Formats: sequence, C-alpha cells, structure tokens
Amino acid sequence: MKPLGAQELLDVADQSIRLNWVDRGLLLARYASAGALSRACEDLPLAIRDRLILGLRIATFGPQLSLQARCGGCGEQLEAELDGAAMLASHLEDPPEATTVHIENKELSLRMPTSRDLDSVAGLPSEQAHWGLLRRCLADASVELDDQLRSAAAAALESADPFSALELELVCQQCGKGTVTQLDLVSFVLSEITDAAHRVAAQIHQLALAYGWTEAEILQLPEARRRRYLQFITDGASAP
Ligand SMILES: [Zn+2]
Repeated sequence: MKPLGAQELLDVADQSIRLNWVDRGLLLARYASAGALSRACEDLPLAIRDRLILGLRIATFGPQLSLQARCGGCGEQLEAELDGAAMLASHLEDPPEATTVHIENKELSLRMPTSRDLDSVAGLPSEQAHWGLLRRCLADASVELDDQLRSAAAAALESADPFSALELELVCQQCGKGTVTQLDLVSFVLSEITDAAHRVAAQIHQLALAYGWTEAEILQLPEARRRRYLQFITDGASAP
C-alpha cells in the first residue's frame, strides 16, 4: 500500500474536520484503497475497512502503534505498544463477510455490518441503534428476534470482527491497577494524520517565510530536501 504523502496528509486532515465518525472511516478507507476496490467503500464490511485503514497507517507511519491511557487508580500516564503488522497478519487476514448463529433449533444468518449500516442508525439512542443495526444485517428480515437471539447475534458479529471491540488492559507500574482501554482505529489513525499534517504545515510556513516559495513548490520537495533547508534556517546557512 502507498503511504500518504505530505499533500495527502494535509488533504485528509482538512477534509476530516467536518465529517462524522463513519465518514471519517470512509475517507481513510478511500485513500487506502486508492480507487482499486470492486465495490463502494460504504458497502465494505467494517473489518475489511479496518484492514485497509491499518494498512494505510503501517505504510505511512510504520507498524508500531503506541496506545496511551490514564491509570484509573492513580492517574499515572500508561503506555502500550501494539504490533500493527502482527494484527494485520493474524486477526484481519481474511475477515468474513457473513456469520451464522445456532441457538437450540434455530439458525440465524447475518452479514457483517458496513459503513452504510452504521450511517443508517447514526443519531438514534444507542439501544435502538444497536438493534436497528442487527436487523439490517439479518439475511431473513422477517425473523422475530427474542432477547436470547439478539444477544447471540450481537456476540457473533462482535467475535467475527476482531476490531469491533479491541480492548487492551494496561497494568500500572505505580499502583498495580489494570485499566482497560479501547482502540478506536479510525480516531487513532486520524489523530496521527492530523498531527503529521500540522508538522507539514509548520515546515511550509518556515520555508515560505525564509525563501518566499509557494505551498505547491514546497510540497514538491521530497521530505529529506525540506529538512535540509529547514536545517539551514535553524543553523544559519553556511557552506560545509
Ligand atoms: Zn496507577
């Protein structure tokens, strides 16, 4: 997968500002797939969307994901490293498009939820959104869901999508208490992209002030070349 370049980092960061969470996920998946999908991004199962987003993250920033959380016991800052490449290789190798639930003598077939499904229940109270999503994913929409079937169906969808509720327990070195944190891949990756876009904008700002180049001219320079000129500005230009 191609990494995001300086121009794309700025574009994604700018475009994401006014989008909701579902559309931010779609924005990242579109950049990741670079138009090479056989169907609309909206119709991709979320696990496949997440595989694209994780691939884009690894291509752009490398495979190590640093998670941070605040200790629930003493307030200490906790950190954990995740190996994104290992996650991609194991959990997300080939996400299923559908799953089946067997309870007593009943069998339920469900397809995996997509961004379009999430969008259709956005804004509903969480309980209603949850059941609305399940109903959309049922292969046979006429099936009556009792509480037992609903819970089983929800659990089946969750276990078929390893990213739907990726939780990590971080143990505090200070007080020994465990704190559970969730990885929200869309928000995590977008926040890294926004930080990187800010660094690019700061480089453009410095180079434009020092040399009078336009944004477009500066963005055409490879990263290493931009850094070289920035070093001159910091050190005061001098021949070696
Ligand atoms: Zn603690």
